[in-house]
Amino acid sequence: MAASSTTPARPLVGEPVALDLLNTRWIAGSADRDLLETLDGLRRWLDDVDLTGRCPADLPTLANLVHTREILDRLVDTPGNPEAAEALNAVLAHGLVRRSLRSGGPEETVEFDHPSWAAAWTAADNYLTLLAEHPDRIRRCANPACVLRFLDTSKNGTRRWCSMATCGNRAKAARHHARARGGRAVRTAVPGGRDRGNGEVLRETGRP
Ligand SMILES: [Zn+2]
Repeated sequence: MAASSTTPARPLVGEPVALDLLNTRWIAGSADRDLLETLDGLRRWLDDVDLTGRCPADLPTLANLVHTREILDRLVDTPGNPEAAEALNAVLAHGLVRRSLRSGGPEETVEFDHPSWAAAWTAADNYLTLLAEHPDRIRRCANPACVLRFLDTSKNGTRRWCSMATCGNRAKAARHHARARGGRAVRTAVPGGRDRGNGEVLRETGRP
């Protein structure tokens, strides 16, 4: 079912489902946005993460997702937080993985104690996979005014921004402006105290 076109477009999609759930909240200008404020938004998200038809798009699912989003938010910011870990385990306890051999191959099914936990459980389970496979690649965008998270899949592990086109460019422009203002501001701000200035500043000011 296509989501209504009135649901706001998210700036970052396509991250693993645990992080994509966190990215249902973002900042647009100075406004906090939240895709999971409405059932339309929930339908959009289920579409985005390929769960349409596998999880009911109803209020209980929405409530369980928002609850799990809070837990994941805390865990990503403070990995290993014991209270958050306990809360995540409580979410995971709503699903039971059954493995079996079918038609000559392995099959895995998950049974939920209530269908409204299917989406939240899937995100929680994905977080465990990320921890097992890429614990040091779970990142928050380096723009302090941005709340988006991503899995750094770059070869060298050097991705810093949710998007080069937005936060990355903003940081580049800020650095450019700082350079354009030149060393003058630095010279007046650091009046020559050796303990406060670094070697470069001392050379720039011409002090001994
Ligand atoms: Zn960002």
